[in-house]
Amino acid sequence: MRPSRSRTTGHGKSKNASPLPMDGEAPRIAVIGAGISGLTCATEIAKLGCGVSVLDKARGPGGRMSTRRVPDLGVGADFDHGAQYFTVRSPELSSRVEQWSSEGVVAPWHGRIVALGPDGVEESSGITRRVVGTPGMNAICQRLAAGLDTRLGVQVSSIESDGDAWTVLDRAGDNVGTFEKVICTAPAPQTEKLLRGIAPELADRAAAVQMQPCWSVLLAFDAPIPVDFDGAFVNHGPLSWVARTSAKPARQTPPDRWVLHAGPSWSEAHLEDDAEPVVEALVAAFFDALDARPSQPAWCKGHRWRFALAQNPLADGCFYDRRLGIGACGDWANGNRVEGAFLSGLRLAQEIERALDR
Ligand SMILES: Cc1cc2nc3c(=O)[nH]c(=O)nc-3n(C[C@H](O)[C@H](O)[C@H](O)COP(=O)(O)OP(=O)(O)OC[C@H]3O[C@@H](n4cnc5c(N)ncnc54)[C@H](O)[C@@H]3O)c2cc1C
Repeated sequence: MRPSRSRTTGHGKSKNASPLPMDGEAPRIAVIGAGISGLTCATEIAKLGCGVSVLDKARGPGGRMSTRRVPDLGVGADFDHGAQYFTVRSPELSSRVEQWSSEGVVAPWHGRIVALGPDGVEESSGITRRVVGTPGMNAICQRLAAGLDTRLGVQVSSIESDGDAWTVLDRAGDNVGTFEKVICTAPAPQTEKLLRGIAPELADRAAAVQMQPCWSVLLAFDAPIPVDFDGAFVNHGPLSWVARTSAKPARQTPPDRWVLHAGPSWSEAHLEDDAEPVVEALVAAFFDALDARPSQPAWCKGHRWRFALAQNPLADGCFYDRRLGIGACGDWANGNRVEGAFLSGLRLAQEIERALDR
């Protein structure tokens, strides 16, 4: 895959940068990962005037908040195959959501969400404010990445000490750049691997977190599935969640599109299976959970998330070793989920700012 950049800002100070209370050049910082934690952290430290480069192995920003485009199904017939929505509890995310809402990249999702148990449909308990990216879950990350030096298709394979700085190497062993600080925002097992040789204490913290997999199935139907809810927590069988993705705001184009998520135990047991039998089993479980006569999807696809959610997330917020100039953040470091990841990125940027102030 050829590396691409969404924007090149170089290492100079950004227009709105506050002057750094430092002698000499602004530090160059590599942020590995263009998910919500990495892009939040990168956005904040770029405001300090640091030269920030965001590196991600994927073709687009978003990480586990990504959106799958299927041009064969028509314009806008996309699928949120990772995070389905996010909840907002903190004042920090609340004010950011207001800003993103005014920019058109998020909207509230007022869909009817139920629980499906062996006895049928039950209303889902509690009032939850659910927010989705528009027109897809990746919209927020795309928006943030566009304002940064974001280099896609770059898989970091090692970080090597180069005296006072760090040299970042890609999978081919090519030099991606030399940076004073490196921030890793990959899921815990991948962070552990990248930091083991250079920051063993941070690697140990990441190693303490187990991440669970999730098989996700994307389905399109010619005739809409006749149910009167938009999403459901499934409390029996292999599935844990099903949602009509085409019922969310700014996605309401045909065909009728569904996303199914298998629960962690089922996903773990079938982790190395081929996608085809997994799709078959989960489609059967879908109609079983709906207690409906099966119909043939017009299009289907299976996607394996090897590291979907942390089973035992930490509550540290983030990690930063000032002496080394190495940091780590992400959902696994801060209670899981989109909001945890966002706050983790924010906290790490604050840590870096405090360290620069010294
Ligand atoms: C199936 C599924 C359903 C979910 N549902 C919800 C939900 O409904 N609500 C909710 O709040 N949360 C949900 N989540 C969790 C949520 O998506 C995550 O908590 C959040 O997106 C994590 O963000 P992050 O920035 O910490 O990590 P990520 O989004 O994983 O970002 C890390 C990035 O690092 C990149 N990367 C990794 N290794 C390298 C490398 N060596 N070199 C370069 N780049 C690298 C990856 O490509 C990725 O883009 C769900 C997750 C999954 C998988």
